[in-house]
Amino acid sequence: HIRPLVAGNWKMNGLKDSLGEAVSVRDALTGPLATINADVMIAPPATLIASFAAAAAGSLLRIGAQDCHARPSGAHTGDIAAEMLKDAGATAVILGHSERRADHGETSAEVKAKTAAAHRAGLVAVVCIGETQGERAAGATLNVVSRQLQSSLPAGATAANTVIAYEPVWAIGTGLTPTPGDIEAVHAAIRRDLSESVGVEGTKMRVLYGGSVKPDNAAALMAIPNVNGALVGGASLKASDFLAILRAYE
Ligand code: 13P
Repeated sequence: HIRPLVAGNWKMNGLKDSLGEAVSVRDALTGPLATINADVMIAPPATLIASFAAAAAGSLLRIGAQDCHARPSGAHTGDIAAEMLKDAGATAVILGHSERRADHGETSAEVKAKTAAAHRAGLVAVVCIGETQGERAAGATLNVVSRQLQSSLPAGATAANTVIAYEPVWAIGTGLTPTPGDIEAVHAAIRRDLSESVGVEGTKMRVLYGGSVKPDNAAALMAIPNVNGALVGGASLKASDFLAILRAYE
């Protein structure tokens, strides 16, 4: 059995003025997680990691980051090393999200270097892959996902230090999701790839689904074979929505 992970990616949300609801998500999650058969994480903006990690100390809630630099230190203005995220209290870092691949031109080679940096710092890397609408329309989904997977994972990736998140780009923030059959096919292909390239650790590695996961579709999505949890965007910003999603694992 693979213990699932449900992670909330807050993206660039959580300004102090609007933090009332955000803090209630955090506080709602530091209590009732014992009955949830999954690991639970929030990845707030970097400015909130230290205070959230302090607030979550002693609870089952884990705090993650949304990006890191590949190097441990140096002349890289504006960047944050994986070691610094660890120091601030993060236990994991999301890497290669499609918004970073698009907004910052991140390549899979860079994602691979960042993933190695996360491992070096003792962080779990949550490595994101997924096809665009055009790639899906062209029938290229499995090729794209396989290529991203192969080129984003460094040597030394294990089930303990690496999580894969399959996020079809066109499903993010749109309310659209692939059919259960399409998700099952992609996750099966990822599992096959992982088993072949990583070996036995690849058979145990968590493969999350992300893209418009909501309270009303979470249970069905999480029941799909080889879906070992969720990466949740918008719905992780509302305590009632995130808790409702977690109930898929009660
Ligand atoms: P939404 O859940 O808002 O579609 O975002 C998904 C996502 O990008 C999580 O990383």
